Amino acid sequence: PFIQYGAKTGKSYKEMKEAEKFLPGGVTANIKHFAPYPIVMNKGNGAWLEDVDGNQYVDYLMAYGSLALGHGHDDIKKAIQDQLFEDGTFLFGTPHSLETTFARKIKSYYPSMDKIRYTNSGTEATLLAIRLASAYTGKKKIAKFEGHYHGGYNEVLYSINPPLSEAGDEDKPNAVPESAGMDFYLDQKPLVLPFNQPDATEKLIEEHATELAAIIIEPVQGGFIPAEQQFMDRLRNVTKKHGIVLIFDEVKTGFRSALGGGQEIYNIKPDITTLGKVIGGGFPIGLVGGKEEILSISKPKAAGDVFDVGQGAESSAKEILFHSGTYNGHPTILAAGLATIQRLEQDFDATLAYTNTLREKIEDLGKKANVPLSTVGLGTIFSVICTRDSNIRHYRDLQKTNLELRKEMDFHLLNEGIYTKPLNRYSISTSHGEKELEATLNAYQTVLNKRLGG
Ligand code: PMP
Repeated sequence: PFIQYGAKTGKSYKEMKEAEKFLPGGVTANIKHFAPYPIVMNKGNGAWLEDVDGNQYVDYLMAYGSLALGHGHDDIKKAIQDQLFEDGTFLFGTPHSLETTFARKIKSYYPSMDKIRYTNSGTEATLLAIRLASAYTGKKKIAKFEGHYHGGYNEVLYSINPPLSEAGDEDKPNAVPESAGMDFYLDQKPLVLPFNQPDATEKLIEEHATELAAIIIEPVQGGFIPAEQQFMDRLRNVTKKHGIVLIFDEVKTGFRSALGGGQEIYNIKPDITTLGKVIGGGFPIGLVGGKEEILSISKPKAAGDVFDVGQGAESSAKEILFHSGTYNGHPTILAAGLATIQRLEQDFDATLAYTNTLREKIEDLGKKANVPLSTVGLGTIFSVICTRDSNIRHYRDLQKTNLELRKEMDFHLLNEGIYTKPLNRYSISTSHGEKELEATLNAYQTVLNKRLGG
């Protein structure tokens, strides 16, 4: 497939060569890169992307799940225009009404959130969540799960994609740094826990209970590997027992696993939740919500005691948790996010139906072609796994599947006009419909008829 890929994407190759002169690897985020070179896109419309060579793709990346309505949805365009014209500004820098309207809407789906604060990204949201947990408990250590991503800063940048040779025991994973330049921060190493392994997880938590401020988890790993109910119930119980703050990072699962995220599916109330991606309608956002007694640590004590000292210092009062950001609660982004949620209220079920039909049909086609294919997912995200054993429960199970075959298939699919970044998951939008389903299944049919893996 790589020869055909080269033939179809000549302009992407040239543009990436040019990009490399200015950007390391030609990209602005490492995750955008893949070998031999990524495709450069220049248009999006509904469920479709068009690259610089004019090739059309059904897009299943959906900007890593952010675009729940697809590209350029009219509802969002209108909401943005209305906001800009009615309010007459791009940014207030003061409180404005939409901040409350949006919080009320979020809370209706996430009743675990007594109070809410906005940030500019999911990374900032988990960072704030961890600081809140540390302030609340007076403790310094956090635990995270192997294979789970929460953003690119030191405390959580461990054991996301560790080589199995370094990952340690399945029951007691090592904390493997994911970046160069982290030596300075080694004392911030998190405790790494094994996802979906309730006995081993409980044991490690019990051993470290006195040090732990918080445990952060994606209730559905990467948005597509569901936690088991019993595992979640036990995690909630053991954290409650020891007064450890349980943080659900629902940046990926929010409005995707279900409208109410993983916490709706598992019927569990985390102490803190983070959201991002979908709730910004394609624009940068993050959000932290949670228990009154925790979130209120960031509450200014009384009118007049918050001084704008020097360059943005908020307050010298150590008992108040610092939280600031020029763009927090950006009106245009909240308008885009609100329009997204309102559209999802109408169309989420249809998107879910599309997702489930696509998963079933891909599995059927795999069976007919005798290619080992299964899918793993929840809500409107899933991944295609090259294995006959569909019981994928955590990071290490995934590593044992045939990733080479999956990659080969992905390049064939790219050549047939189906876009997902090789080895990435599928995120479905409300813009995926009959036409896209047919195009996708035709492409799969064509690809599965080739001699794969040979
Ligand atoms: N948490 C999770 C679960 C995520 O998937 C991501 C982004 N992929 C983040 C946090 C970080 O969000 P952002 O990229 O907006 O900083």
